[in-house]
Amino acid sequence: MNDIRILIVEDDSSVSNLIATTLKIHGCEYMKATSGAQAIAAASSLNPQLILLDLGLPDMDGIEVIRSVRSWSSAMIIIISARHEDSDKITALDAGADDYLTKPFSVDELMARIRAAQRRMNWLAMQKEESAVFVNGSLKVDYAANVVSVNDVPVHLTNIEYRLLSLLSRNVGKVLTHSWIISRIWGNEMESDISSLRVYMTSLRKKLRQAGENDIIITHIGIGYQMIRR
Ligand code: CA
Repeated sequence: MNDIRILIVEDDSSVSNLIATTLKIHGCEYMKATSGAQAIAAASSLNPQLILLDLGLPDMDGIEVIRSVRSWSSAMIIIISARHEDSDKITALDAGADDYLTKPFSVDELMARIRAAQRRMNWLAMQKEESAVFVNGSLKVDYAANVVSVNDVPVHLTNIEYRLLSLLSRNVGKVLTHSWIISRIWGNEMESDISSLRVYMTSLRKKLRQAGENDIIITHIGIGYQMIRR
């Protein structure tokens, strides 16, 4: 874990000290910012690979920090917010955040998210250009042939199920919100809504499970879905 540079953006010093202590123990390089303006400046001058971002900052909304940083940086962004702020999480994810932590969180949870982000970064680094075949554990998606297999046995998906799975695999590790998925699959026509998305997702997962691939897609209740990187 010592080859990752992390920017902690948090105005609450008790939270930021807890994170800093944890990162130090794990040998991660880190720096701290306590406001949105500091965060944007540090993101640009110090070029962190991962940003842990509190959404409630004294000078600006954390969402503004994401929009600003996202316009020029591909750093992983994990937002930190309170349990009741689901709508903020959704806005933050749609603005380009990759994942979230809900306060209060344990240090184990924090480190698990950082490891997941690191797996995603390593994978993205390998995928310099989009590869034609996606492999994640026992799951394989051949984008050129539109074929999905689990342990090399083809899984027959409907058109929508296939598009959902491709969308999740192309964004592996990132939490995708319901409305983002719906806009990508059905466009602006909104012929579908969250309840039908749920139906398609249930049937997609059932087919993957029957083929022997369990729990590769995680549900974030009230927020969306995420394919985990094995
Ligand atoms: Ca705060």
